[in-house]
Amino acid sequence: MTRAMSLGSVWLLSQAYLSAQRPGDDAANAAAGVLGCLGCGTFMLIPLVLFVVQIAILIWVVKDSKARGMDGAVIWMIFVFLVPVIGLVIYFFSRPQGALVKCASCGNMRLQASAKCPHCGNP
Ligand SMILES: [Zn+2]
Repeated sequence: MTRAMSLGSVWLLSQAYLSAQRPGDDAANAAAGVLGCLGCGTFMLIPLVLFVVQIAILIWVVKDSKARGMDGAVIWMIFVFLVPVIGLVIYFFSRPQGALVKCASCGNMRLQASAKCPHCGNP
């Protein structure tokens, strides 16, 4: 344990002790105040942002694999969910390569080189 950390824990203990001594000031309020000092808001925000980014990536994988006419869109989504970064890299290299264009008949994205649209079946 570093000197700063032990000083910090002594400070936390003294704060808890002081709040326990004060009548009418409940301990939950004091604890919330201490956590607020430590930047609790930031610690809560980072996992939330990572969660939202991961959901966005999963939606993109499903849309992209369907547009490329791949069979296991949901399997790929589960795979990327279970193995976040490496799964996405593996997906990137194993998907059918090529540019996506907008289908003229249904408006969904499809692979330019594909014989027919995976969404509506039109050539
Ligand atoms: Zn189509």
